[in-house]
Amino acid sequence: MPELPEVETFKRYLESTSLHQRIRSVEVRDAYVLKRVSTRELARRLKGRRFENSYRHGKHLFVRADDELWLRLHFGMTGSLDYVNHDEVAPKTARVVFRFADNCRLVFDDQRKFGEIELIKDVDEFLQTRGLGPDALGISLSQFKAILGKHRGAVKAILLNQQLIAGIGNLYADEILFRAHVHPSTDAARLSDKDLARLFRAMRHVLEKAIALKTDFNRLPKSWLLPHRGKRGRCPRCGRALKSATIGGRTAWFCVHCQKRI
Ligand SMILES: [Zn+2]
Repeated sequence: MPELPEVETFKRYLESTSLHQRIRSVEVRDAYVLKRVSTRELARRLKGRRFENSYRHGKHLFVRADDELWLRLHFGMTGSLDYVNHDEVAPKTARVVFRFADNCRLVFDDQRKFGEIELIKDVDEFLQTRGLGPDALGISLSQFKAILGKHRGAVKAILLNQQLIAGIGNLYADEILFRAHVHPSTDAARLSDKDLARLFRAMRHVLEKAIALKTDFNRLPKSWLLPHRGKRGRCPRCGRALKSATIGGRTAWFCVHCQKRI
């Protein structure tokens, strides 16, 4: 499921391939991913315009086509972007295809169709309406402490709550907690100032490193939890078997030896 680092990688990909080209047509192959916009309206409003720049907040990507026209992309479980040359065939699971003047295409690909495409007028207004918290890479240590200090409950559930901090999903939350030596079900209220600072540094490091590696899981450091996460996985630090539990409605993987409950 695309989280902040994946969406940031899509943003950079889109910016390096698809900006400033006239949109010739928009082909919707599966309207299921369209939210509050019809196939016809999406095509009509984007035709002849150009994607000028983009902005990411949490797991949402916003692409500006005009002062009051933004395309919002959310990648759901399996969404991704592909830029396809004029002589290449779009993938079978392409849901929406933006065709440019030179016949190259930007494809919104989404096998499981939990992704979302919408047209909005104003990014800030959207973020407010959704009640999204600040972006995980946009907050300072003091903001981070204030957010976690105000909320009780399992620290992992707080990291996953998009209304508190936007961008972290199940996989990177596990990695962040592993790096910070914090057990996922630790009550956030019990974390000391020092624990919070360690957790904050781990969050930044994990997200930034994943972006730098273009979220290629094969290139993640072997010292990370993610390459070992799952059944029969062993802790890369101490070699003991990893454990799992449902926390905040999601499956957490962790090492009970290296991540003590505080
Ligand atoms: Zn361990």
